[in-house]
Amino acid sequence: MMFSMPNHWQEELRLFLGIALITGMAGTLTGQLLPCLLLGLLFYLGWHLYQLARLPHLLGQNGEDGPRPAGLWKGIVREIQNLQDSHRSHSHDLAWQLDRFRDAVNTLPDAVVILDPSGRLDWSNPAAGNLLDIVWPDSQGRLLTDRAPDPVLGEYLASGDFALPLIITSPVSRAKILSVFITPLKHEADRLMLVARDITRQYYLDTARRDFVANVSHELRTPLTVISGLAEQLNMAAPDQATLSRSTELILQQARRMSELVSDLLTLSRLEVQQKSIPDEHVPIAELLTTIVEEARALSGAAQHVLQLDIRSPNDLRGNPKELRTAFSNLVNNAIRHTPKQAEVTVRWEVDAAGAHFSVTDTGEGIAPRHIPRLTERLYRVDASHSRDTGGTGLGLAIVKHVLERHEAELEIISTVGGGSTFTCHFPSARVI
Ligand code: ADP
Repeated sequence: MMFSMPNHWQEELRLFLGIALITGMAGTLTGQLLPCLLLGLLFYLGWHLYQLARLPHLLGQNGEDGPRPAGLWKGIVREIQNLQDSHRSHSHDLAWQLDRFRDAVNTLPDAVVILDPSGRLDWSNPAAGNLLDIVWPDSQGRLLTDRAPDPVLGEYLASGDFALPLIITSPVSRAKILSVFITPLKHEADRLMLVARDITRQYYLDTARRDFVANVSHELRTPLTVISGLAEQLNMAAPDQATLSRSTELILQQARRMSELVSDLLTLSRLEVQQKSIPDEHVPIAELLTTIVEEARALSGAAQHVLQLDIRSPNDLRGNPKELRTAFSNLVNNAIRHTPKQAEVTVRWEVDAAGAHFSVTDTGEGIAPRHIPRLTERLYRVDASHSRDTGGTGLGLAIVKHVLERHEAELEIISTVGGGSTFTCHFPSARVI
């Protein structure tokens, strides 16, 4: 504390000595020394009492009014004012920090709830309303298990073992999955802080990944079982020529199926890994589509589909030629595979104000509306055995979707059962050359 007392002491001393001198002289002159000195002392005391009485006023907002304090009081008032200023700025800092903390907690997407020692709600942030249906202060004093009545949560709380987070469905919506962490407060260990995080997206992604691994394993196991069964048969008895060639043909067919599946899986995982880089090469569309249609004619073979190539615009695309070739040929090959012999398949390329459009229209079996939203899911097939018979892996449209996403394009599927289907890739104008 910087206290400039010596100056004020001097001033105070001067005042005291001045009063003593004047009253002493007056006393000597009048021959009443003691009463005069007593009077001087009373005056000095009165003056201090007056300063003391004025102190609250001097420290208040209108402290500048009236006579300024003198002597020791000047220093005292200045020091108290300094303390007041530093206290004010400290309170201001604290209020600012508290506001920032409150803002952060209020905008936190995770629910934060404080529980008192009896498990009752003491405080919660706004996100607790969206995730746990706990609105503070309305829910103050209620039991947590009343507001979030999942029995598993009650058991978890009662167990007192919070080493691992708990996964529950939200009381607000069963579709929401929450991960709940509980931890005792650092300075009040009998109070608990509960944090609930929305992990719905991650949960369903994990489930989809698990399902996908199970489905792929199943897809690979079927041809492997056929191959090993046939190999065992061939090994046990010396086969005649007809059996040998039929068996080897089946083995080759199953091996091809496995290799197609593995190759599609690799394409898909490559596309997923590359998700961030945007392909930007010049893709000559007429040339690309002519090659794809020629290959589709070869695939059709004896089925003799009538393939029409309708290029209505000379424009090309900016993108990755290899990926676009994979996506477009998947759509054309699907049309061949899901369309009866000699039926018509039209491959079209056109550009308008909305962008560029690549479409494949077939006159085949068509697809029921309930399947359409799910067709681009990995391994989703309307008729699995038919898809396998025609050489499908169930990954073709998932690959198409990925390629289009990387090109900021969208897939549109229009189909009627028995009336054929049109698969259209819509590219934004920015990608048209
Ligand atoms: P697949 O390898 O089985 O063809 P896709 O992902 O390419 O896998 O297609 C998914 C499913 O969509 C197919 O199994 C099929 O049921 C349906 N499908 C795709 N294209 C067509 C089409 N042109 N006509 C009818 N159904 C189709």
